[in-house]
Amino acid sequence: MVVIGAGVIGASTAFELAKTGRRVLVIDKLAGPGQGSTSASSAIVRFNYSTRDGVAAAWESKHHWADWAGHLDGHPEGEPLAKFCQTGLVMLDAPVAPADRVLEMFDEVGVPYEVWDAAELEARVPGIDTGRYWPPKQLEDEGFWAEPTGKLGAFFNPDAGFIDDPQLAALNLVDAARRKGVTFQFRKQVTGIRRAGARVTGVDLADGERIDAPVVVNVGGPWSSGLNRLAGVGEDFTIEVRPMRQEVHHVPAPRGFNPDGRLGPAIADLDLGIYVRGTPGDGMLIGGTEPECEPLQWLDAPEDALPHPTTALYEAQVTRAARRFPRLTIPGKPRGIIGVYDVASDWTPVYDRTSVDGFYVAMGTSGNQFKNAPLAGRFIAAIVSAVEAGHDHDADPVRYIGDYTGAIVNLATFSRKRPVNTASSGTVMG
Ligand SMILES: Cc1cc2nc3c(=O)[nH]c(=O)nc-3n(C[C@H](O)[C@H](O)[C@H](O)COP(=O)(O)OP(=O)(O)OC[C@H]3O[C@@H](n4cnc5c(N)ncnc54)[C@H](O)[C@@H]3O)c2cc1C
Repeated sequence: MVVIGAGVIGASTAFELAKTGRRVLVIDKLAGPGQGSTSASSAIVRFNYSTRDGVAAAWESKHHWADWAGHLDGHPEGEPLAKFCQTGLVMLDAPVAPADRVLEMFDEVGVPYEVWDAAELEARVPGIDTGRYWPPKQLEDEGFWAEPTGKLGAFFNPDAGFIDDPQLAALNLVDAARRKGVTFQFRKQVTGIRRAGARVTGVDLADGERIDAPVVVNVGGPWSSGLNRLAGVGEDFTIEVRPMRQEVHHVPAPRGFNPDGRLGPAIADLDLGIYVRGTPGDGMLIGGTEPECEPLQWLDAPEDALPHPTTALYEAQVTRAARRFPRLTIPGKPRGIIGVYDVASDWTPVYDRTSVDGFYVAMGTSGNQFKNAPLAGRFIAAIVSAVEAGHDHDADPVRYIGDYTGAIVNLATFSRKRPVNTASSGTVMG
């Protein structure tokens, strides 16, 4: 079978499919593993989502990251491994993502958390301003500098954190997949999906090569919708998926945020429209959470993304962070990276079969599925195994049971035909 894409989720998919005894070939048009959207990832591992299955998947995945060598089924001595940095995550109150529903789901799934009032927040996060500034505003808006209208509380997940090197995580999965017999071909572009009637039969490559395969999995990241068009699938999707440009900025951390060489917590601040986390070297990374005041940068194709940070968005995001952390100084020159999300209408991924037999998708990862890569591969392997054995996954969706947590994930939540998830925050938070 063919997997298109060697990002973190494509590599995980190949690894898991190989473990089911299948012969797997991965094709990627870039020069090496994880060079697509994976390379730009902030790689935050958190558990708050708008669906119970999203929470359960993220909580189970965390355990795989925490035992990464075990997840990879071992690794040669000396091979560098991606590392899970457990910093905790603070989710500040915001009307767009009500805490009560999430905390109920945490209770149900067994995710540990603490609820903080403003005083606790101030005591636990050095230098934070706990003011409520909702709704997020543009810098030019006079209201941006208005006094806060109250104080924020938060919930805290001590088990959250981030992966120190997302591209290395993809490489680790590629190496693990190779050890299971998977073949990788880089710098090869899929330009056609072959079909015989309602069944996929293989792929065509830009160099004229034709590869026959009874199963093809689209893990094309922000290119996924284009690949679906090549396969002639999408009509029965209730969910639309499109690429969206993102900027993540890097600044020196405000004094005290990363105390004594330890990294400060990741902070989701939908009140101001940003997220931040510490980075090694006493830095801080700042991303956006799609505040309504900021135009969304939809793209026709991922290649259209302007490759450098813009002064306007840099100033907007970093100034928002400086409102939250008044000690933050704003360097004059924008520094950061550009990435492209593969955004689904409800910011929830699609892990599913399609209307073409043998053609599967792991797409619509909406800027929030790096953390779930260990499980996403298992979801696809479970769906492929069931469907190729004759199971009707649309009528009777496959359920995945977590090895570590025992949590049951109903894969109907990630169906291409699901009702659009109206509980979604409509942002990267899912
Ligand atoms: C800026 C940014 C920040 C993020 N932060 C977080 C975060 O904090 N936490 C979190 O959980 N998630 C985060 N994400 C999301 C996460 O990184 C992605 O969901 C994940 O990396 C997607 O992996 P992937 O393998 O599906 O796609 P990709 O890594 O994009 O890989 C797709 C691959 O497919 C290949 N491909 C596409 N079309 C073809 C073709 N026609 N022929 C051959 N090859 C092809 C591409 O070359 C590419 O290598 C973030 C994403 C971005 C962009």
